[in-house]
Amino acid sequence: MKITKLETFGNPFVTFTRVTTEDGATGWGQLSTYNADITAEIFHRQVAPHVLGTDIDAMEDTLQRIYEKEHKFPGSYLRRAQTGFDTAVWDHRGRVQGKSVAELLGGSPGRVRAYASSMKRDITPEDEAARLCSLRDRDGFTAFKWRVGAECGRGQDEWPGRTPEVIKVVSRALGDVDKLVDGNSCYGPKAAIEVGHMLQDHGIGHFEEPCPYWEYDQTAQVRAALTMDVAGGEQDCELSSWQLMIDRKSVDILQPDVMYMGGMTRTLMVCKMGEKAGLPITPHAANLSLVTICTAHLLRAIPNAGKYLEFSIEGLDYYPWQEGLFLGNPFAIEDGQMTVPDAPGWGVEINPEFLANSTHKVSAL
Ligand SMILES: [Mg+2]
Repeated sequence: MKITKLETFGNPFVTFTRVTTEDGATGWGQLSTYNADITAEIFHRQVAPHVLGTDIDAMEDTLQRIYEKEHKFPGSYLRRAQTGFDTAVWDHRGRVQGKSVAELLGGSPGRVRAYASSMKRDITPEDEAARLCSLRDRDGFTAFKWRVGAECGRGQDEWPGRTPEVIKVVSRALGDVDKLVDGNSCYGPKAAIEVGHMLQDHGIGHFEEPCPYWEYDQTAQVRAALTMDVAGGEQDCELSSWQLMIDRKSVDILQPDVMYMGGMTRTLMVCKMGEKAGLPITPHAANLSLVTICTAHLLRAIPNAGKYLEFSIEGLDYYPWQEGLFLGNPFAIEDGQMTVPDAPGWGVEINPEFLANSTHKVSAL
């Protein structure tokens, strides 16, 4: 079935995509968030021309063709744009076949254990502990991630003394749950190992992006020195980078982001690489847009799914653009778990009000 139209509906924060085939069937996807208006431009100029007129069943080959045709443009923006094509095609396939994407991938709808993920650093250890404990008590989360160091912080703390304090205060307050922290590329290897020992002493089991993420050997030194899991990969979108990360034994857990990767198809390739290397996949999904939905479907399908789905706990003060994206609440949490519904495609309906208020662009045959 020939693809006849590709559309974007969005704003600079979040942009949805729609693919239409010659029979009029449609599917909905999304570009990666942030600078989504720039990404939409790339979608219409560097993705759509290679897609229009192709067979929707040949999507995997078309993705590779985009890569080849646009080989002067490796890197993030093209991947973020082609995600809008890939994710819309998966939804289209699901709607046509009456199956959830999880089923199309060989899995099933159902519950996914989530970890409550804090995005904040400008929060005191006491306030962080209080809000995470209230989520534990209200929604039944059994796993939590919070932040240490400063983002790409060159070894500096968000403010002096915050990291040792937030490790101690939050881990003690949470008690017997799974505890994860994220360094967001803060430390050199020596400092990361020191922080890692402190984390281990407080029962924290997952240290994410301890070193600048592009420094695979630094991260490997940290992994070799610690017994806890070292995790990373959220920024990486080139398969050669993932191979390097695996070959250098940089991490215990791979964390592809479906949207940064260029969609589900290329994320599945990383999952396969992880499976071959015996590594679990705990993807990055840092906001409540389609990325968390896609990730939940993925985790319901792959054999090497990690222990949990990343689930952002931030509200409209942090992510004002998250409001009203979907009809109903696809992000409901019960007993610390989110549910992949038994509905075709991604199983969500984008809010018509959001679409009506968005910038709409069309590429068509
Ligand atoms: Mg992270």
